[in-house]
Amino acid sequence: MSEASAVTPLLEQYEGVKARYPGHLVLFRVGDFYETFGEDARLLSRELDVVLTARGADARGERTPMAGVPHHAVETYLGRLVRKGFKVALCDQVEDARFAKGLVRREVTRVVTPGTIVEDRLLGGPDHSFLASLVEGGPEGGAYAVVDITTGEWFHGPADGPGPEGLVSALAPFQPREILYVAAGRGEPSRLASILRREFPSARLEPAPPGLAPSELPRSLASVAGAAPGAGEADLRLAAYLRSTQPRLLPYLELVEPGGTRRRLVLDPRTLRHLEINRPMNPDDPKGTTLLDVTDFTVTAPGRRTLSFWLAHPLAEVAEILERQDAVEALRSRGAALDELRGRLHEIADLARIASRIAGRRVRPPELGVLRASLEASRRVRETLAEGTISPRLERLSDALAPPAGLLERLSSALPETLPVTEDAGDLFRSGHAPEVDRWRAAEREALRALQELERREQAASGIRSLKIGYNQVFGYYFEVTKPHLARVPPHFRRRQTVAQAERFTSEALEDLEHRIREAREEAHRAEGAAWEEILEGVEREVPAVYRLARAVGELDVLATFAHLAGAQGLVRPIVDDSTLLVVREGRHPILGPKLGAEFVPNDTELDAAKERLLVLTGPNMSGKSTYMRQVGLLVVLAQAGAFVPAKFARIGLVTKLFTRMGFTDEIGRGKSSFMVEMTEVADILRAGDERSLVLLDEVGRGTSTFDGLAIAWATLRHLHDRTRARAILATHYHQLTDLIGGLPGARNAHFAVKEEAGGIVFLHRLVPGSTDRSYGVHVARLAGLPDDVLQEAERLLTALESEGVALPSARRGRARAPRYTQAVLLTESRENGSVLEEELRRIEVDRLSAEEAATKLRDLADRARRGHRPEEPPP
Ligand code: ADP
Repeated sequence: MSEASAVTPLLEQYEGVKARYPGHLVLFRVGDFYETFGEDARLLSRELDVVLTARGADARGERTPMAGVPHHAVETYLGRLVRKGFKVALCDQVEDARFAKGLVRREVTRVVTPGTIVEDRLLGGPDHSFLASLVEGGPEGGAYAVVDITTGEWFHGPADGPGPEGLVSALAPFQPREILYVAAGRGEPSRLASILRREFPSARLEPAPPGLAPSELPRSLASVAGAAPGAGEADLRLAAYLRSTQPRLLPYLELVEPGGTRRRLVLDPRTLRHLEINRPMNPDDPKGTTLLDVTDFTVTAPGRRTLSFWLAHPLAEVAEILERQDAVEALRSRGAALDELRGRLHEIADLARIASRIAGRRVRPPELGVLRASLEASRRVRETLAEGTISPRLERLSDALAPPAGLLERLSSALPETLPVTEDAGDLFRSGHAPEVDRWRAAEREALRALQELERREQAASGIRSLKIGYNQVFGYYFEVTKPHLARVPPHFRRRQTVAQAERFTSEALEDLEHRIREAREEAHRAEGAAWEEILEGVEREVPAVYRLARAVGELDVLATFAHLAGAQGLVRPIVDDSTLLVVREGRHPILGPKLGAEFVPNDTELDAAKERLLVLTGPNMSGKSTYMRQVGLLVVLAQAGAFVPAKFARIGLVTKLFTRMGFTDEIGRGKSSFMVEMTEVADILRAGDERSLVLLDEVGRGTSTFDGLAIAWATLRHLHDRTRARAILATHYHQLTDLIGGLPGARNAHFAVKEEAGGIVFLHRLVPGSTDRSYGVHVARLAGLPDDVLQEAERLLTALESEGVALPSARRGRARAPRYTQAVLLTESRENGSVLEEELRRIEVDRLSAEEAATKLRDLADRARRGHRPEEPPP
């Protein structure tokens, strides 16, 4: 502020806080409201749609904009602000306004950011709430640390590859709500920041604060720093941020995968998006169904989180996958008893989050009741689990399900059946738990009884039957005597107040009782507060144990869900091993399959990195190519997450990296041409892929001129085949490729069968060997509802081109072949032509033909066109 005199002391105080909390939206408690001023007021008014007013006037007569929200509704507004990505500092009055000399002292009591909230109402659902820290640079490209403070889980690891992309890729499966970052380069905004913004549009981004010293880390995190030079940097910065935002929770955060997520199947951001693992490709499409949606039959909040995590981080270690599978198998074999187990699990609430609210002192009393009930429920789950077939993994989970020693007993003996909604309402404990509270409550009851007794005594002594004892906030307890009886008021009554129909009095005895009542209440309240804090401290000591228990609940729930799905949908246990095979018999698409039911056509897959590793799909649009490729990817994800898969048989040699590139629409509009986007993506894949990768590429080389595209598609295919040696499926419109791959030992052609009928074509969605050079582009266009005149013109042109035999230079030397019906051909310019058929077409006067004649004519022309102008199909 340039002129201190220009603002009122209140605004001065506000500006002081703003200066100490730069980048925060400061909500400043004034009376019953949280207020903002100046620019923040405009912002608040705009974002929350609250009224913008103005306050005071400075020396120049300018009024300060002001906007606020009522304090009792602040949580709701906070929720909206953090979802919009704001960082809010709540500034409260820290002394009683009644005793304040001058301005009330105010301090920031809480900083709320999207990644550091623990309140139920702010979190909005059971999904993970991840806060991430990224440090770019170093030989490995950088490192990340990620935490969910609501469950105590801390993860860290190196970038997936070089450059900011590799770092962002490692972060993608987490979908953090807030990201702190340190970019390697100077420029602003850094490339890292731009990529982060693009990849995580709803996350809050902020440069990371300087890290804590390793010695300042809590014990539970002591191992995160110093593993490798610079490796702990992201962790230390994350810890620093938490110390300033949620210091109470810092001691309970624990590294859950000490080895890092290295043993996980790498799914880059594109693959996660294209396979729609846990969010739809188009986030605005409410009907978009993800793998998580169709798999989520979990019955607990920790289960939902675990499932989401497992699907986005499938395993890449055979032993652990087998262990999960054994557990699923054991649970499935239980039949109806599995339902009972799941029913019991369902009684367990979101324990982890209650634990974090206890540690963060943001807990409401009823939540301790919920915690108690959940501990009881997990004890019952454990009993049920012990009653049937078991596996090593289930054995371990059973141990982990035991409630922390003594906690349940302590809660049960301390807390009543139902707990009051707030701490101030009293009745927090069973009698006997806190003797001091009981004593003061008894004293209060005793004094209230004495009050009634006094009323009766004074009535009898004065003879005024209507004499009553009443209470109000200002005067406390009083005797009330209505006007007609004033003459009989005893002399020891002292007048206090006159109201319309009566006079109010006090007496020494009444004042005495009032004092006793007040003292008893205050003391009871104080004692209750102390006993409550003691309970919370007791539970807080068990927070790490409750976190572990919640994780066990989550895992058991997911394994039971996999078992349930396996039974309900007739899934098979895939063989997962160290081979390089990928064999599926009658595989079904996990998302589309259940939707289409019997209409879905199952297909086989057979790839072997050591032999035939590359499958090239040709065929018309809409025949099922991309569905098939996604199906293969999704089955691998499910299998390596430990789930059973929709197929008759599956054998999957471990995949460590899964790359997909499907369609080319999703990144256009992000400032790059579609071709550029495609080439960048393909380049990433070729650089990072290896013989343990699975590569799924749809329509390589589109978005540029035909020859460029063909050349690039061919070169890509060669590279994949010769160098990467990954298992791969490619779909292409370049039929020329199918000729070329004849020379590659590890490549094969396939296409989806199509049946031609009088009325058009029918897609059979059945994968058959061999290539096809038919695109049925015009048929597909008709299905899509292109206007008739356009279709007719297209047919005409197509026929002309075919009879002309327009040729692309064949890849196979010495043989010029007309790639007919291809979309590539449609891309080339039309030419003058003089074919017989066309001449005939030209002569038809459509308006003079009846509908029937027209149909006959058209059929005749079409037949002749097919007979005369199409080469024989190669035998399958
Ligand atoms: P392409 O990639 O060849 O253009 P898609 O894979 O997008 O074709 O499939 C087009 C449509 O065909 C899908 O939306 C789906 O409705 C249907 N479809 C695909 N595969 C199958 C299948 N195996 N069984 C039944 N319908 C399928």
